[in-house]
Amino acid sequence: MARASSMFITCSTSRSRNALDQGSPDLLASRGPMTRRRVIAIAANEVILQGRFTPFSFGARRVWATVASSPAGREADVHFRESPSMDVDEWVDWVLSVEPDIVGFAAYVWSFSLFLRVAERVRALRPACTIVFGGPSARPQMFDLPQFRAHAGLLDALVLNEGEWTFAALAALPSLDTASLATVQGLALHARGAWYETAEPPKRALDDLPSPTQLGMIPAGRTAAIETYRGCPMSCSFCQWGKSDVPDRVFSAAYIAADFRALAALGTPNVHLADAGLNLNSRGFKSLAEAERETGFLRTRRLHAAVYPTQLKDEHLSFLASIERPQLDIGIQSFNPEALASAGRHFRESRFARMVETLRELAEVETELILGLPGDSPESFRVSFERALELGCRLRVFHCLVLPDALMVRDVEQNAIDFDPVTLMVRSCRGWTAKDLLRTREYVAEVARQRGGDVLSNLWTMPETHGADGQQARGDGPSAAFEIGAEMFERVRGIVGRATRGAWTVRSVRRERARVLLDVEVRGQPLAIEAAVSSVTAQAFRRVRGIAFSYSTRGGPPDAATLRELVAVTDPLVEPARDVLGAAERVKLTVVE
Ligand code: SF4
Repeated sequence: MARASSMFITCSTSRSRNALDQGSPDLLASRGPMTRRRVIAIAANEVILQGRFTPFSFGARRVWATVASSPAGREADVHFRESPSMDVDEWVDWVLSVEPDIVGFAAYVWSFSLFLRVAERVRALRPACTIVFGGPSARPQMFDLPQFRAHAGLLDALVLNEGEWTFAALAALPSLDTASLATVQGLALHARGAWYETAEPPKRALDDLPSPTQLGMIPAGRTAAIETYRGCPMSCSFCQWGKSDVPDRVFSAAYIAADFRALAALGTPNVHLADAGLNLNSRGFKSLAEAERETGFLRTRRLHAAVYPTQLKDEHLSFLASIERPQLDIGIQSFNPEALASAGRHFRESRFARMVETLRELAEVETELILGLPGDSPESFRVSFERALELGCRLRVFHCLVLPDALMVRDVEQNAIDFDPVTLMVRSCRGWTAKDLLRTREYVAEVARQRGGDVLSNLWTMPETHGADGQQARGDGPSAAFEIGAEMFERVRGIVGRATRGAWTVRSVRRERARVLLDVEVRGQPLAIEAAVSSVTAQAFRRVRGIAFSYSTRGGPPDAATLRELVAVTDPLVEPARDVLGAAERVKLTVVE
């Protein structure tokens, strides 16, 4: 990730703008009673990503398009600035130069403190200006943090959740005093030392939203955004979307097709699906597929999208096969069932690896893990990390963030989280001490460096591997398993012999990454036993003191005598398994009963 300090985009919209003058009749009909043209400024700080993926502040542009297309906006001068600049003076100069009556800042994790400092200066230099924060970090919870508590009264309002219509309603107020602001639905206001929220706005049809793409309000040559629905059906505790509404509103195929046509005319090289996932809303997907059938836009432009492998259906695979090879993100986050359950995230192990393989035939696949998830641990993170690397896809590891509406307010006591109030990065939490996090960060950074990936403050990337890791994951390369040494072999052989009164013979004992594999012979029949760390193993025959045991036979299921012996064998095998796995991971394994 890099910041391009010289890039910025500044635009204004006024009545003379042709694109807006072609708006719908109801937008054109109303002319407000204001005597002085109101000036509205919207500011967005963008993160420039290197390479082919170069998105921009699409959400802020949606707000800009909605305000500029509204009756009040058409009577106003609306200025928009998007820049990666982190220079407070530069932002203050721009705001003052347009002399706004209202300024709205798009607040994200990376831009919240920047815009707070800008707002402080604007408040001092232009006291009558109404200052509003919108975006994912515009939440009262942010002002409960010690660093920002003193700023709670600085802003006039926070725009909560979907900001387009709310900001347009605020911009249309004849007077911007506190009593008038309180009549706008969807705001948080600060009065007498506390925040309160105004009424929730009604949900409007998504097709009513003016499209910045169709109105010519997006930059050329960048990765554009397409939305097909809003919200997410899942509720992962670490994600702000986990609190969003049931995704029952979708954009129509006609709307998306019009966006595609506008993007084709603009020469857009690639698009990013701004939805929670390609396959999490069947009606949204239907609109997308229909728009693509009608325009063929994605046949020659790359689509970047998130997918959830265990929810993939044939229709998704056919769609992906029909467009230019897409780039798909798979958020694994963790393979640890306990950490996933604690985050409220569903995961079906049985389908996962197979679907990833299928997707790799059709797309560039990137996987994602979170380091420092509450309920995870250094040991189980390492196992997740190894397993993700084994998949052979490009892997991104993010340091866990404590976001508003997410971990900042959900399961707070249970998770015992301490976090940095500016970066929002977890410093310690349930399962992780501060030292654990530092050590694991160093470990991941070292692997990233060795593999030629990126090492950033809260993100590490490992390039795709076409070699050993990927081959092993697909079972078509040489095995990484190796014998555990004569002494350990004798120890295991003795344990198994005693526990089964000589009925079982151990043929081999190997360690393969985070598993110990035993091949035994039971009354002339082969039996394979696997011992792995319990906290990262979804299915098991038995779990004993942090070790999960499973078995497989050739032919039918084991008979009753073999099952009894399996139970008898697993108890005494726990210690050698822990010794082998602990030595392999160079960590002390946690005990999970
Ligand atoms: S992480 Fe993905 S699936 Fe979970 S709530 Fe967020 S968007 Fe939805």
